[in-house]
Amino acid sequence: MDLNQPILMDNRNLRQDVPDTNAFFAQTLQEMERLPREGNLVTDPRIVTQVPCPVCGDAGGDQLFVRAGFLIVQCPTCSHVYVKNRANEDYLLGLYAASQSEQAYRRIRASDFHKRYWRAMHTKYLDYFKSLGCANRNVFDVGCGAGNFLDTCHETTDFDLYGLDFCEDSFDFITSVIGRDNYYFKQRIEDIDFGAKRFGLISLWGVLEHIVDPKSMLARCAEIVADDGRIILLVPNLFSRAFKILGITTPTIYPRGHLHYYTQGSMKHLCDNAGLVIEHVCQELPVIDLMHPFIRYDDALIQDILAKDEGYYHVYVLRKG
Ligand SMILES: [Zn+2]
Repeated sequence: MDLNQPILMDNRNLRQDVPDTNAFFAQTLQEMERLPREGNLVTDPRIVTQVPCPVCGDAGGDQLFVRAGFLIVQCPTCSHVYVKNRANEDYLLGLYAASQSEQAYRRIRASDFHKRYWRAMHTKYLDYFKSLGCANRNVFDVGCGAGNFLDTCHETTDFDLYGLDFCEDSFDFITSVIGRDNYYFKQRIEDIDFGAKRFGLISLWGVLEHIVDPKSMLARCAEIVADDGRIILLVPNLFSRAFKILGITTPTIYPRGHLHYYTQGSMKHLCDNAGLVIEHVCQELPVIDLMHPFIRYDDALIQDILAKDEGYYHVYVLRKG
């Protein structure tokens, strides 16, 4: 398999095929617009906290833009892009457990289109992991959401599966796939005693951009991954072609929940801190559905986007240093 070749699927009719997509973005925007603001920013300490760079600790930060009351800055030291007035952890965990928009999001992920798309992508990276021949066959999906990745692992491998999430809607499904004992439900990875258990593969699909303290989460993953194991993580790429075309309306700019946009510089900083090295940086989703009215879709465009590192997602494959 070629990790550098992204999964391509025709998504131009996504909004007709998956009507919850529009509902989700409208709902999240509405929920953010309802928050009280002062000088165009959400400042209420019950909702947000002003933070230094979560990757390197630099107190500064150059303003990129404000979206729905949240200030997005770039760290002058490590290049990390993050939300300066970030939502508090208790507030966020409540959101993931129960808010309407998160429920709409899980319905989107349960749609046929997304199931096919994510299954193809998950399989690609799972095949890579299988090709390594790692002896440890424990797979731990951190932030397993609706359970799509664990379901794919369950159907296509005989690996031992573990998951962690806070989501109440998908509890029954996930425990039916991996069993109650293997599900770390509503637990923080830093607080779990894993004993001698180690994992051959730890996956964080669209998780690290939501986490208040990614430094401590990745360091914990490094402690519990097997010596020859891998960590796979997918995060949005702010500086994508989609952002160049759609600007502030790019769906990934969802600052209540997306607290971070990793650059390759800030990801390296995090990995150095955790004793991990970046083995591969891959790109996925070069073209999102909303771009179609503004592009001529052809292979040359895809190749240009990839050459300029402007895919919508980055997938990092990490191993111990
Ligand atoms: Zn920094």
